[in-house]
Amino acid sequence: MTQEWAGGRTIRVLDPATVNQIAAGEVVERPVSVVKELVENAIDAGARTIRIDITSVQGGIVAIRVTDDGCGMSPVDAELVFTPHATSKLTAIDDLFKIHTLGFRGEALASIAAVAKVTLVTKPRGSTTVAGTRLVVIGGVQKEKGETGVPEGTSVLVEELFFNTPARKKFQKNLNTELARIHGILEGIFLANPQVSFRFYHNNREQLVTDRTTQPLDSIARIFGNECARELIPVSSDLPFMRISGFISRPALSRKDHDRILIAINDRYVSTAAVTAAVKEGYGTLLPRDRFPVAFLSLAIDTRLVDVNVHPTKKQVRLSKEKEIVEAVREAVHSALSKNDLIPEVVVPRQQNRELESAGIASARTSSGVAEPAVPYGAGARGLPASATPDPGAAIAPALTEPTHTGTVLTDHRLRQTELASGVPPVTAAVPSMEVIGQVGGIYILAAAADGELIIIDQHAAHERIFYEQVSRSMTARHAQELLVPAIIHRPLKDAAILRELIPVLAEEGVVIEEFGSGSFLVRAVPAVMGTCEGPEMIDDLVSDLMSSDPTRPVSDRERITRIISCRSAIKAGTVCTREQCQRIVNQLRATQSPFTCPHGRPTMVRFSRAKLDEMFKRT
Ligand code: ADP
Ligand code: MG
Repeated sequence: MTQEWAGGRTIRVLDPATVNQIAAGEVVERPVSVVKELVENAIDAGARTIRIDITSVQGGIVAIRVTDDGCGMSPVDAELVFTPHATSKLTAIDDLFKIHTLGFRGEALASIAAVAKVTLVTKPRGSTTVAGTRLVVIGGVQKEKGETGVPEGTSVLVEELFFNTPARKKFQKNLNTELARIHGILEGIFLANPQVSFRFYHNNREQLVTDRTTQPLDSIARIFGNECARELIPVSSDLPFMRISGFISRPALSRKDHDRILIAINDRYVSTAAVTAAVKEGYGTLLPRDRFPVAFLSLAIDTRLVDVNVHPTKKQVRLSKEKEIVEAVREAVHSALSKNDLIPEVVVPRQQNRELESAGIASARTSSGVAEPAVPYGAGARGLPASATPDPGAAIAPALTEPTHTGTVLTDHRLRQTELASGVPPVTAAVPSMEVIGQVGGIYILAAAADGELIIIDQHAAHERIFYEQVSRSMTARHAQELLVPAIIHRPLKDAAILRELIPVLAEEGVVIEEFGSGSFLVRAVPAVMGTCEGPEMIDDLVSDLMSSDPTRPVSDRERITRIISCRSAIKAGTVCTREQCQRIVNQLRATQSPFTCPHGRPTMVRFSRAKLDEMFKRT
């Protein structure tokens, strides 16, 4: 920082302590980085059991200790670990391309020691002496060295983190945020390393524990609970350059964020936006756009295609063939989903069971912990005709109502539209055949499947799915059909600009619109699949939907239009249907490729298995 110039020197080589502190900033950003590095070292040391202890006071984390039963270190090696770039894992740059250890840069311990007080206790495996080595390093300077009686393995205690870098210390978020980050990273590391038994304690209270196992699902159940594990289906795919294995959730289990999409590449838990996005894309319309699945995927990729040396924290990786890898993941997820029965099962939580018992009633609802209803029925409700809006007085309205004549005719017409021959491949998904019992509240279809199962189907969601597949798959369904009388719609000027741009896209979908000037548009034709019975209000609604739908959503205009047309044309919630009509909906739904959700990702059906019914009636 000196300003001298005249003949003096302004450039100087930094002393090693300063260099280390600067480098430390990259590796050790916050407490969680310390935890990650120490645990990864323990894994690299071949530990079978690793214990993590976090100690905190109100102000924050005061100590991090990681203890392992791994290979340990000789006294000579122990002293070396605090020297920058001292590593036992890499000797030449070529080794980088065949890295099988989590560490290799030899930076972590030196960096941590540069900004904290580190106490290292270690004894090599198979050592014949009782004593091991004990070293204390503060701010990069060795303060103590001695012997102490220890078991084989290594224990690293980190205290006074960032004591000499106040800015970094102040920058720490509050304690809970830091603990949450530690939790998050440990979840990922634990899952990626089922061969290790982990014990994580905070202030001596057990937080997260896994046992050595060859069954990854066991670890998932330990960490995320049985309810989560139950909703998972296996994924596996073998390609010349990569093997994909792991588990993903049925659509019934989804979350608001993608925090539970955990990806390990070559047993290293990494964060990779591209692969995470591919997992979500594999769900297609099985999930609403703002919901994310739970997924635990392990990718074994040819090490030559993976560069982990992107950042000192090694949390990011650079993938050659990224496009192929991403596409393979999407495809593996997609195919796993299409192979499985995805009808969510109704779960009565035990706790609630007891409450119900004491109240003397039996009722069921999906356990909120498992299947959060993805999206409230907002979109469906918009389509409700005024007469069908549930009014409080009608809460106990008769469940089975007689359909009106005009209603039946209209429904028949709509069902005929979706029975268009379309050269669709036969039923692929695993929906059981079922017999309709009747309709409830003009919304739900009750049906019985072979083995005493009760299946409840949302008629609007189901028909929306049917429509959607018709429209997306069949060109004829999208053919424009001219209206007998062209309809005129008026839009505010701000909409007009957007609509103008959409005219060509709409035309491809069979909606033929011409601009008339000053916010007026003439609708000449609608897709054949919508039929001619729709009035101009319906088209106006369609345009409103188009205007109001979120332009940032990551689907194409065409996809948006298809979804809106399907939603608008499908039989509304609140439309009373005959049993025969209900049966037709069910049959048509079974012939779709993705029968389990509507195009917005909401479920089309839920099931009460026979076993579940028996359990609820205490027949077990
Ligand atoms: P890296 O892991 O990149 O090699 P580190 O600074 O994390 O760098 O560790 C330096 C070296 O210290 C490692 O290469 C390893 O030989 C040794 N080491 C660190 N932690 C342990 C441990 N828990 N058990 C045995 N050896 C360890
Ligand atoms: Mg390391």
